[in-house]
Parts: sequence; structure tokens; C-alpha cells
Amino acid sequence: MTNNILQQKFDTPFQTPPFELIKEDNYLPAFKELINSSKEQINKIVESPEIPDFYNTIVALETSGSQLGIVSHIFFNLNHAETNEEIQTIAREVSPLLTEYSNDIWLNDKLFSKVKQVYEHQNKNELTSEQVQLLEESYKGFVRKGALLEGDSREHYREITTELSKLTLQFGENLLSETNDYQLHLSNKEELDGLPDGILEAAAALAKSQDKEGWIFTLQFPSYVPFMKYAENRELRRQMYMAYSKRGNNDNEHDNKELIKKIVSLRVQKAKLLGYASHAHFVLEEHMALNPEKVNDFLSELLDASLEVAKSDVKEVELFANDNGLEGDLQRWDYPYYSEKLKAEKYGLDDEATRPYFQLKMVEQGVLGLATKLYGLSFRENNNISVYHDEVKTYEVFDEDGTFLSVFYVDYHPRTTKQGGAWMTSFREQHRDGQGDVRPHVSIVCNFTRPTDNKPSLLTFNEVQTFLHEFGHALHGMLSNVIYESLSGTNVYRDFVELPSQIMENWGTQKEWLKDVGVHYQTDEVIPDELIQKIIDSENYQSGYATVRQLSFGMNDMAWHSLIEPFEGDVITFEQESMKATELFPPVEGTAFSTGFAHIFDGGYAAGYYGYKWAEVLDADAFEAFKENGIFDKETATRFRNEILEKGGTAHPMTLYKKFRGHEPSIEPLLKRSGLKK
Ligand SMILES: [Zn+2]
Repeated sequence: MTNNILQQKFDTPFQTPPFELIKEDNYLPAFKELINSSKEQINKIVESPEIPDFYNTIVALETSGSQLGIVSHIFFNLNHAETNEEIQTIAREVSPLLTEYSNDIWLNDKLFSKVKQVYEHQNKNELTSEQVQLLEESYKGFVRKGALLEGDSREHYREITTELSKLTLQFGENLLSETNDYQLHLSNKEELDGLPDGILEAAAALAKSQDKEGWIFTLQFPSYVPFMKYAENRELRRQMYMAYSKRGNNDNEHDNKELIKKIVSLRVQKAKLLGYASHAHFVLEEHMALNPEKVNDFLSELLDASLEVAKSDVKEVELFANDNGLEGDLQRWDYPYYSEKLKAEKYGLDDEATRPYFQLKMVEQGVLGLATKLYGLSFRENNNISVYHDEVKTYEVFDEDGTFLSVFYVDYHPRTTKQGGAWMTSFREQHRDGQGDVRPHVSIVCNFTRPTDNKPSLLTFNEVQTFLHEFGHALHGMLSNVIYESLSGTNVYRDFVELPSQIMENWGTQKEWLKDVGVHYQTDEVIPDELIQKIIDSENYQSGYATVRQLSFGMNDMAWHSLIEPFEGDVITFEQESMKATELFPPVEGTAFSTGFAHIFDGGYAAGYYGYKWAEVLDADAFEAFKENGIFDKETATRFRNEILEKGGTAHPMTLYKKFRGHEPSIEPLLKRSGLKK
């Protein structure tokens, strides 16, 4: 018996990870031994003399390696939310071991022949629909991971996947270094013109924390975004823009261009080995959209509906800028600044006008309260659950009848040890085992504006929406009600996974809800109706521009992953070509987009970025059901919970969707909602 904490059953509330007891030294030995014991579990299945059936093969496989899964969740969650050099070193060592381990399963002939035998001979009428889904996904999983490959191709496949796991990890590390390596240190007050007090306070606090005078701005979102929106000094905006947009393209040791070439080339080689024309063909088979043609048609249809609007959006900002003293063309580093000013002029609204009303504490109550209104959930803070950083809070989540549903972690503010952006993740996923229902441990990690010495954390409206979004993913995890872990919660097709998150953003623009959460942090005044109306009116401000921008990311992704040969060309030229149809600004020498595109090169969105827009079609169409019946209608909410949120990946998403909505999604509600069609 080992005394490594990671190899024991956690003796903690809800068996949550005992972070304070886990040392960095524990990971590597735990990974190695758990990989070995998981392999033994697989061997047992393989060597069993029994005739293979659903239970002794498919279920046995599904439940093998569960402790390894728990440790992986802990480790990789920390690597994203609270990393350090030691963890990064371990990640580099462990990732190939895990890839090798999964290859040992997926490329195990004897195991596959048993799975195949069950797949071909099992009487499906004796199984529930969830079990049929598990059987089909298991079989397909093997095939998609190379089980039908033989000899040299099989070896080649192994090499490719191992290499890819290293390269994608390195892409993310490079990007994090590039983000952290740059600071704009200002000590001259005039250079700060236009920047709101809250932003200056944060910048001063950062300088102070580094024993420096003045103000420091960084490429992390809460610093970068407001700087670009408010700094009057055009040259400084240009510098910040250039620093941000050159990340991964500085021809230094953190450059991502060669990595991109290698990653896309290996992905196409892998796809071809498996019998697909491109990586996109391979990926999309397991998406609601099914194939690249459908995705490209979808992107083109939206581009047709939005390009002219986007051009006039940008023109409008340019004219406004010229009227307000801008000389020459509107550049990319001018757009956020003048666009924000124009928005303020048109609607009397800017981020800083609403920020005092969005205290994180109240917004949190309102976001959690929405789950109470819709689904009857309640949340109780529990300080006895161990956390990986002082700033992380934990809740116990209960169902309407008092049944315990989930542990819920929240981690709100940026740190240099945390990746940018916001995401939901789990430390444990819902499933049922011999002992009963195993409830999930769900977490959301954000980079929201920090409190300062004299202000609480005050959010932009955009951050409020991000909170709702991630909380929607969290509900998908928390409310999961299935048997098998691999079909649980957010384990659904990539272009379906954003439905539960994006639909939440719809409540973010409803008066009733905004009145609940918007309370001025100094005066306790409830957010005035006219300010709410301005938020609503301005929702579609520059929506053509915003749509085309999202489409350009999706098109860049599809271009990289529709390659049918390894890539030999120039990364920058290729990228410009791929985004040409969506170009709204003059090109800027030296900048790159792909080298910072972590979603597709260090995340799960390769050939799937379009899924955000796809899901917008779904969420706009789904929210229509709430609008038809009342936005807090219990019956509609219950149907959404029963048919979508609880079901995970136990059925095809179109089947689930139609059960909720009664028909397939239509693109019209989205075009109307975003003002692209009257
Ligand atoms: Zn999301």
C-alpha cells in the first residue's frame, strides 16, 4: 500500500481533492502507478475467459482507470488555473505517458476484437438506449483512434499522437509566456489620459506589487481590453495592440509558427491514416454539423447575412473617428477606442457607466438565483472544502427537494499562474456506480476584474455575460443524470456543448433579472430603468462587425483543418488568405492571429470553432421557447433540464433538441436577435 495521497480514497467532504495535502512530488509517481494499475484492469478484461458481453467488456472498460481519471482532472485543472514551473515540467513528462497509455487501450487488438464482438453480436433490444449509445461510442472510439490500423501505419499513428500531445502543450506554454513577458510600464500621468479610475487603480496596484512607481498594463484581458477601449494615446494603443497581436510571432524561443506547421501537418497525416480526407472530416463526423461542407455552407450563409452590415458598422466608426480628430485610416488599435466612444454617444453608455452596478458579489447571487428560479436549486457556501488557492470559494448545491446535487467551485480573478479567458471544468463527473449516484464536482475559472484597496470587484457587462455563460456549462455538469461517465454532463458533441452556456446569456439582457443583480456599490441604488434600456438597445451595436469577427475565427480554423496534405507554406500568408473574405481593416505587418489561437492549437476546438455560432443558432431558437411561455416558466425550464441538461451525451443532440423544442432549430431567431434581419 502506498502513502501517496493521490492513490488513496480521499477522506474529505464529498471526497473532494485535499489540495493542501497534495504535493507536486506526488503527481509523477501517482500517474505512473495508476497507469500501471489501469493497464492491469484492462488486461483483466482482455484475459477473461468469459464470452464478451456488454457488461464484462464495455462497462468494465468504461469504469477502468477511474482513479487515474480523478488525478488527471486535478492535475490538468491546476495546470490551467494555478500552475508553476514544476507543474509545467511534470505536464511535459506526463502528457506523452498518458497518450501512450490511451494508445495501449485503443490499439490493443485483443481488447478491440472483444469490443467488436459485442458490437456485432449484442442483442440491442436487451439494452437501454443509453447502453446502446455507450456501445456505439465505444466501438467508434476504437475505430477513430486507430484500432483498424495494422503494422507500420499503427506505429506511425502512435508516433503522431504522442508528438501532437507534446506540441499542443508547448503551444499553450509559449502563449502564456508571451502574454506574461510583456508589460507596458508608464510613469508619466499624461500618458494615462482617458483611462477610467478603476483601471488606473488596478494598474497602480500591479506596479506597486512589483516595487515599481507608476502604472503597469499587461496583455491579460482585464488590463488589455479597457486599455484599448479608453487610452487616448494612439501610439500607446498601437504598442499594446502590436504586443498582443504578435504573441507567438516574435521569432524568439516562444514562437508558435513552426509548431502550427507541425500540428496541422500531423493532424492531416493522422486523419488520412484513419481514412479521412482532412482533419475537419475526421472531427466533424462526431459533430451535429456532420461534415465540412455543411460547416462551410453555414459560415457562408452567415457571412452573406452580415458582411455588408459589418462593413457599414466599421465605416460608421471610421466616420465618427474622423469627425473626432482621427487622421488617416481607422486602424485595428483605433477600432475599440472609437467604437466605445461612438457607443457612448449613441446610447449614453459605456462599460464604466454600468460597472459600479455590477458588484461581483451581487452578480453571483443573481446568477445562482437564476438556477433557483428556473430549476429550484439552492447553494450553500462550505468553507470546509479544500481549495487550491485562497481565492477559490466552494458551494454545496441542492435540488428543489433538498437532494444534494454537486460541489461547485468558483475562482474569479486573474493571476499570472492562470491561463487567460474563462472556462468550466470538473474535478469529478456525475455517473452511477455499484454504490449509487456519484455526484459531480464542478468548477468555473474566470479572469474577472479584481477588487482594489477601495473598491470591490466590479464587473463589466461583458463579464456578467461571461459569468452566465460559464455557469450554464456548470449547470450542464451539475444536473447531469446518467449512468455512464463518458456520456455525462458536458461530454457532448462540441457544437452542442455551447447551447446550455449561451442560452444563459439571454437572461442577462432581461430587465427583471438585471434589476436583481444591478445595485450600485456605493449608494445601493438599483440600476435605473434607463440604463437597463441602454444595455438592451446597445446589445446589437456593431453586431455585424462582431458576427464577422467570429466568422473569421471559424474560417481560419476550418482552413487550417481542411488541409489535405502536410503544410509546407508560410503561416502568415496562409492565415491572411483564410481570413480574406472577412477582412474589415488594412493588414498590419508583423501581427498574426493563428499564433495566439489557443482554442484550436491547445484546446479542443480544432475544426470546431464555428460551434460557437452554431450554438447561437440553437440558443436563440431555444430561448424562443422561453419567450413564448415566459422567461421564468417552470414547465419550459423543466423540459430544458430533462431533455438537455440531464441527458449529457446519452442520445444524438438533434434528438434531444427536438424533444425539447418540438422541431429542428431555425437560423431566423438568431438573425432577428442580432438585428441582421428585421
Ligand atoms: Zn462555453
